[in-house]
This record gives sequence, C-alpha cells and structure tokens, in this order.
Amino acid sequence: MRRVPADLLRGAALEARDVFTTSRPGVTAEVINRTSAVLFVVGAAVVLVGALVRPDLPHRELLVGFAAAGCATGAALHAARRQARVWHFHLTQLLAIGMITTGVVLVGGTHGWADAWLFAVVAAESVFFFPAAAAAVHLVTVLAGVLLALGAAGGAALGDLVVVGCVLAALSGTVRALARATETAGIDPLTRLPDRTATTGHLERALASIQHTGAPVVLVLLGMDHLQTTNQREGHAAGDALLRATAAAWRARLGRVGVLGRWGGDQFALVLHADVDAAWEVVEGLHAAVPEPRTASAGVVLAELGDELQDVIDRAEGALAAAKRQRRGSSHLWTPGLPTVRGLYEALADGSVEVHYQPVVRLSDGVTTGAEALVRWRRGDGFVPPADFLPQAEASGAVVQLGRYVLERACRDAASWPQPPGAAPLTVAVNASGPELAEDDYAAWVVSALHRSGLPGERLVVEVVEGLLDEQSDAVVANLHALRAAGVRIAVDDFGTGWSSLARLGRLPLDLLKVDRSFVADVEPGKEALLCAGVVALAHALDLAIVAEGVETEHQAAWLAALGCEEGQGWLWAPALTSSAFSERLGDGAHRLAASA
Ligand code: C2E
Ligand code: CA
Ligand code: CA
Repeated sequence: MRRVPADLLRGAALEARDVFTTSRPGVTAEVINRTSAVLFVVGAAVVLVGALVRPDLPHRELLVGFAAAGCATGAALHAARRQARVWHFHLTQLLAIGMITTGVVLVGGTHGWADAWLFAVVAAESVFFFPAAAAAVHLVTVLAGVLLALGAAGGAALGDLVVVGCVLAALSGTVRALARATETAGIDPLTRLPDRTATTGHLERALASIQHTGAPVVLVLLGMDHLQTTNQREGHAAGDALLRATAAAWRARLGRVGVLGRWGGDQFALVLHADVDAAWEVVEGLHAAVPEPRTASAGVVLAELGDELQDVIDRAEGALAAAKRQRRGSSHLWTPGLPTVRGLYEALADGSVEVHYQPVVRLSDGVTTGAEALVRWRRGDGFVPPADFLPQAEASGAVVQLGRYVLERACRDAASWPQPPGAAPLTVAVNASGPELAEDDYAAWVVSALHRSGLPGERLVVEVVEGLLDEQSDAVVANLHALRAAGVRIAVDDFGTGWSSLARLGRLPLDLLKVDRSFVADVEPGKEALLCAGVVALAHALDLAIVAEGVETEHQAAWLAALGCEEGQGWLWAPALTSSAFSERLGDGAHRLAASA
C-alpha cells in the first residue's frame, strides 16, 4: 500500500474544511473528483446505449456528441484529480445537471422520461459525499433540473412530477442512511475487519449472552510475531501488507465461525461461542493459515458467567504474553496466577513492586561505580520476572506509572547510598520504556523526581533500548535533549541487538553504550568471540564509554577489560540487590565488591 504522507493528508483535510466539508471521514477532494470522473463516463455510456437501442430517437447524433462530451469531461476530471478542490464538485454537479436537462429536453416524450433517470445518479453522489445542508442545495438543483427537463419533455402532469420528486427523495435518504451505517460500523481501514471498539462490543454482547444461553464464550488474542522487526527492516508498507494478508487468510479459514477483529498494532481478537477444546482447534487452524514463514502467537481465555469485560481482556493479554514467552507461534491458555495488568496496578498500590539494584563495576579495579535499578514484583514467596509483565505493561500503558514509581524510588534510594571517599559519586541507572519516552513531559518529570529526592542530575543515567532510538520520534529526541540539559546521562541499552545506523546514533545526545549480554555470553575460554569484539569495536567507533552486561566469569571480565570496556555488570559481582543490601555490600571503603559465590 502506498502511504500518503501525513502532511499531505492534513493539507487535503484543511482544503476540504475551508471550502466545504465533506460528510465522510477520509473523503478528500481527490476522492470526490475521481468518483465524478467515473460517473461522467458511466453516464456517457448510458446515453450511448440509449442511442444504440432506440433507432427512432430524435437528435441521435447530438446525443452521441453528448456522450463524447461526457467521456471527455470524465477524462479531464481524472487528469486534474490532484489539483481537485471540494468546490469543483459543485461545478461538475451543475454541469451534469445541465447536460442531462438538455439531453432530456432534446429527446422529449417518453424517451426523455427514461433518460431522466440519470438525475438519480447525480443526486446519489451528492447525498453520499456531503453534509445535509450542502446535499440539500444539490438536491434542490437536481429537482429544478427534473422539473425543467420533464416539463419541457412534455406529457407530465403535476402529480407525476411530485411522484418523481418523492422517488428522488427516497433514493437520497436510502443512500445517506447506508453511507452513515458504513461510517459508524467500526471497520479497521487496513484489514477491513471490525476495529477494536466494534470487537469489544461483540465481546460484551457475547459475555452478556452467557447468562441467557449458558453457552461458553472464548476470547482469543492473536499477536503477529516480530511485526516490529518487519516494519523496521522492510518498511511499514511490508508490515501493513503482512497484516492484510493474515487477516484475509484468517477470515477465509474462519468462514462464519466467531467474530474476528483487529485489536490494534500487531494484534487481532477472535470472539468465539465455543468451549476451550473447540476454540483450541480453531486456533490451531489459524496458526496453520498464517502466511509462511511468519508466525502468530495466541492467548486463549474462557469467559465464565459474571466475568467482567476488562478482566477477560486482561487475561487474554496475559495469556498472549505467556505464549510469546514460551515460544513464538504457540498458544497459551489463561490460568489463574498468570500476571495481569490489573494485578500490576494492585501491586503498585500495595507496595509489592520493589526496586532492586545490580552493581556496575569498573573493570580495571573492580570498584563499584553505581547500579542499575531493576523492577521486581513480589508475589507469594517469589518474584514475577519483569519479562512476564513488562510486555503487557507496555502494551496497556501501565508501564508509564510503573516507570515513574521505579524512577522515584531509585532517585530516593541512590540519594541515601554511602559515597566513596575521594571518588566519583555512585550513579543509578533507570530503564526507560517506549511509552514513557513518548510522553511529552517525561524529561520534566525526571527533573522533578531529582528535585524531590535531592539527587543531582549527574548521578542519574537513563537507559534506552537501541531499537527505540532507531525510530527517533520527535518526542523521544526532545526528551533526550532535555534530560541531557539537566545533567542526566543517556545509555543505549542492549547495544548490538537493534540494527541501528551508527550515523543516526551518532547524532543523538548519548553518553554510554551497554553491550548486550548475548554477546558477552559468547566469550568463553579457547573460543574466538568475534561478534563480541565486533560489537565493542562498533561501540568504540561512537566514542562512548562502554558497559558490558551479563558478565558471569572472570575470563569474560578480563577479556572485556582487554578490549577496552570501561565497566561491567553481572552475576560475577552480584545479582540485583535490595537497596540496603547494596549499601551494605559496598562494604570496604573502596567500594570493591566481593565476588559472589
Ligand atoms: P536489562 O535492562 O538488559 O537488564 C539486565 C538484565 O540482565 C536483568 O534482568 C538482570 O537481572 C539480568 N542480568 C544481570 N546480570 C546477569 C548475568 O550475569 N547473567 C544473566 N544471564 N543475566 C543477568 P531482569 O531484572 O530480569 O530484567 C529484564 C529486563 O526487564 C531488563 O533488561 C530491562 O529491559 C527490563 N526492566 C527491568 N526493570 C525495568 C524497569 O524498571 N523499567 C523498564 N522499563 N524496564 C525494566
Ligand atoms: Ca537496562
Ligand atoms: Ca540490557
């Protein structure tokens, strides 16, 4: 699909509004003009057919000339469609009414009555495209044309003209009602499936029906795997094409089974009146229908009598996240205990969300220089791993509240840590997610949290994953600059996994690169860790300080130090610790950590 640049669309919408608003969203002057062009050619064809099948027609040659003029007008409109303005439409409608009126008058009699049907096409187009007032003006003009034409054609009693007027009014009303119905049907323009609102409506009705029918309802959330990567590497047009192809394949596979809708982004939702076994079978069919070599993951939830709409949706999202974790292209059935967004909000409110700190050490002498704040959700005796709830939190926007909580805590905790005598003060690094950085006031909020805690900006590092920087939205870039201005340093997290252009990264205000632990894991005795050396070389090319992540062995630490990495973090020194454990383990005055067992 060719993407229309947003500013072009904005321009078209402005023009439409300035002169005459159209009644349908997305209808631009160009669309109207194209439709008019087609209708002129269709009208010309009708006139030609009329001339062919009625040998006794008066002024046949003239009518053929009319048809040719109609075709030429259509072609001209088509050629000029890019320069089209909404007000041009009034002229073309007037021209059409004039041509039909003249034709009907020329032909006269019953032939003229037959040809006058063309007025209906003109009326239909006006009521389809324009708001009531504008359409009414057009209709009155059409009616005037009808009166003039049929009056002159002769043989019409006043009553006949009234009937023709009523028929035109009825036709216009029908077209308008149908246009309105499709407008509000909640169709996703990309896939032509019901959109999220419409699908939620279906789900709501299905849940309400359980009470009357007792029949089970299943919600399936389907997520295309790696759509983001496709968008980044092959462009958004390729991602759109994939979504469309998948929607078409699934719709064909489902036939009349269930309601399939677009849930938004890379997700689809399927509402089924079925038990879990039957639903599972349907979902297996959908997996098989995904265009090769792509896959989709599915979260399946059985709704029961009395379940709240939002709970069912939360569970399906949790199940989908679990499926993605377990294996892309798999399905996961929701069971009580899977984390949900609502559960996360409750945990934030009741203090079950904690922030732990993993020390960051200088590779040359093992001295702790700071720590990375990592969120921990305490549940029962253990912790829910971040990977089990962050994707849902990001998708739902809950990550914004979560991130603020973590940042606030991290600033306060870091302000309380003992400072190494004579050395640079300890830093604290906080992870920032996409939805947080997209908020216009993210940087302002960070600055206010620094003020509240008394932590100087220079002691805070904000970590941003490489993929996010690659997108470079205006809000993200503005936030980075504002953070920098407050003295906060910016780290590129998971460096080496995001396929970023170094030139693009080089233009951003960055201070640190964190080499992803997948590269560090490759460093083993007797093995040439070329990839890791390559990524470190790339990082050096950007002339930024390097922190190696996931350092687990002395061998890795020594090798990374030899390559020129300044700092490291990993289980070799310590896992993430509570703030007080971290302070205590700073132990000796030099802030040198004992290697953990
Ligand atoms: P990350 O930013 O790459 O964080 C480092 C992850 O590596 C942490 O996982 C840490 O526990 C783990 N790790 C540390 N040392 C080692 C090691 O030696 N070996 C191995 N195999 N792993 C090690 P964790 O805590 O599970 O966090 C996972 C991810 O969740 C983080 O990856 C980060 O992207 C995200 N995350 C954690 N806390 C937050 C947060 O507060 N906000 C946001 N937005 N994301 C967070
Ligand atoms: Ca990080
Ligand atoms: Ca990382």
